[in-house]
Amino acid sequence: MGGYEVQIQDRLLFSNDIKSSHSEESGSSSPDDNQPDSRKRVSQMLYQRAALMPKFATKVLSNQLGPPSKKPFMGNAIMTSSRGTFNSPLAVNKKEKSHPPFVIDESEDPKPVVESCIAAHLRPHQKEGITFIYKSLRDHGGCILADEMGLGKSIQTIAAIWAMMRKNSIRINLKCLLVVPSSLVNNWKSEFKKWFGTLRKPVMAVQKNSDIRSYAASHSYNPFLLISYDLALRHVEHLKLLKFDVLVCDEGHKLKNINGKIRTALYSLEIPRRLILTGTPTQNDLDEFFSLLDFVRPGKFGNRIEFREMCTEKNDEFTALRDKCLLRRLSSRLQAHLPNKHEYVLFCKPSEIQKKVLQTICDQMTGEPLVLIDYIRKLVNHPKLLHQKLLEDQGKETRISARPFLYTFPKNYKESVSDSGKLSTLCEMLACFHEYKERCVIASSYAKTLDMIEKLCNAMDFCVFRLDGDTPVHVRQKIVDQFNTASDPNSVFLLSKKAGGAGLNLIGASRFVLFDSEWNPAIDLQAMARIWRDGQKLECHIYRMATAGTIDEKMIQRQIQKGELGHFVEQIENSSSVKFRDEDLADIFTFHDSPCNTHDMIECKCGGTGNLPGEEEEIENGDGDVVNDENAMSNTEDDALDDFEDYIITINKKEDKEAIEEIEMQKEEENGGAAVENAEDAEQLAINGSSLNSLFRWRHYSPRHESQWEEFKETAGLGAIDLSDVSFVFKISVKTSES
Ligand SMILES: [Zn+2]
Repeated sequence: MGGYEVQIQDRLLFSNDIKSSHSEESGSSSPDDNQPDSRKRVSQMLYQRAALMPKFATKVLSNQLGPPSKKPFMGNAIMTSSRGTFNSPLAVNKKEKSHPPFVIDESEDPKPVVESCIAAHLRPHQKEGITFIYKSLRDHGGCILADEMGLGKSIQTIAAIWAMMRKNSIRINLKCLLVVPSSLVNNWKSEFKKWFGTLRKPVMAVQKNSDIRSYAASHSYNPFLLISYDLALRHVEHLKLLKFDVLVCDEGHKLKNINGKIRTALYSLEIPRRLILTGTPTQNDLDEFFSLLDFVRPGKFGNRIEFREMCTEKNDEFTALRDKCLLRRLSSRLQAHLPNKHEYVLFCKPSEIQKKVLQTICDQMTGEPLVLIDYIRKLVNHPKLLHQKLLEDQGKETRISARPFLYTFPKNYKESVSDSGKLSTLCEMLACFHEYKERCVIASSYAKTLDMIEKLCNAMDFCVFRLDGDTPVHVRQKIVDQFNTASDPNSVFLLSKKAGGAGLNLIGASRFVLFDSEWNPAIDLQAMARIWRDGQKLECHIYRMATAGTIDEKMIQRQIQKGELGHFVEQIENSSSVKFRDEDLADIFTFHDSPCNTHDMIECKCGGTGNLPGEEEEIENGDGDVVNDENAMSNTEDDALDDFEDYIITINKKEDKEAIEEIEMQKEEENGGAAVENAEDAEQLAINGSSLNSLFRWRHYSPRHESQWEEFKETAGLGAIDLSDVSFVFKISVKTSES
């Protein structure tokens, strides 16, 4: 029976059509033991799991007899709060009823307030932000809210302006124009929905020309007009006629070019109160920073030349003035409210077939490195992904022949879960999450890898949600909301890193598996930030998978080093004509047969026990709690963030210019490639880890040391599962002050 289970999964994972795969192949059920041992092991694993979990067992077993059930992710398209904790403030609950409204300014009469139903959910930094926005707009005409992502810039904006609108009369006579990138229009709509429920949404979104006309008639009912930058530019003349009172520009760094079309157009509306929202206020030159400041406070900073002078010669004056119109808080503020986060790099053993094919590819490294790098990245995810690619390439006119690699595979190669150390480990982890009823996000760069994982999840009877490049923009938020509020705890969210853009909030999950890495760390960090954010209630575990000794591990090393090669290889991938250093290539095309090449490289003296330097002494001193290193790390991260804040503040200092330019360059690269909403994550990484030495702060574990290994599995939320394909683990934790 056990063997049968695995075989079903094998066949399920790789047919071209997800839905019909099972029925098509159900005829051929003879076992083909290419790798009897490992297959047996996985089957035993599934079988043991089945014995442990009656419900799961029944499902897995019954699933084999029929096609995998691909449950629709769009069942009831009920929009609910993506925060998951409450639906609508106007659906007043007890907590809200008893909560006093938040008074923004006691000295004003009548007092401007944020209503109880919203105030009950505000964090202290948000109240501070609302006060800042309100007073700046009232007294000075404009300001910049530059909070890092996740601190709730939109609710601070809505609450402050709504309070202003409601203050003097029951009939609303203030008009607010809200200009946002087209990709965020739906996020803003659902933000209004979240706070105002279905009873009354004081916002109207512009989809077509006539919407602007209807707004003119209905603005006392819908005082907010939401529009994309593109449409705003197109309809600037119409908008001018409406004489708005307040202008909000989300992702306002779009206005950094003082002569830019969009800035000129919005400036020409002559709206008296202006608010810029941006998560990336750093500007690589003072002219761009000036452009933003001058937009919200026209004339206040003089002209460009005067501004420069003020920055360099009257620094105190400039700082005081700037602080009056720019508020920035880092997400570390928020971390005080968040549960602990643990991040692991799981080094998985390559299978025999992975090693064999990899060796063949490495021997060909002089050929076409870009093609070969692509081959290896597929291989380390699963040999079948490469096999499929080779079959496709076989008939094509390519500069390198696919045949030698194809011949490395067994004739009539028939894949197995255990052909990939990462996949078989994932399979065990999924079973574990299933048992603990913790939901999980799995991210990959490759659609075909996600297809493969989707089939695995279906076979294990998970309810699968998926968001990738093919998911229409208008349904993305619905999928996210449904996942976050899904009643079935056995839900898995599959995320394409390249599609997982701005604002996705997947706090319904407390586990995150990063199945492969990118050269650019910002993309991975952005993906991993999906679950550990405002509203998360559970301790989070983030697992990065790497096939040990291969390109996977090299990519993580490069991310940590964040040195020249990271950027360099990106260039390679983007342009086939770039030349590169032989030693870099040699490293990428070498299989390092070791449980953890990274640990070898940092020349750690722990001998694989994972005891960090100095730890044993601490234990002897009687304060040897094993979490000491984690606290130490947490402080270090805070320091790094403080450094970063200082570094924004000293933007006008010459010595920082070079560093800022470097970051700016990186941002530009990101903007050119996959969308990255928050380049600061990358900046933070750059500060945290300038070399592999930062890994000394990571705790590590090896299965060779059994008691520590068990401790790792326990603390990593992986319980008693058999992680026999994992050869080494690095772990880092962020603990919050409340814990
Ligand atoms: Zn070590």
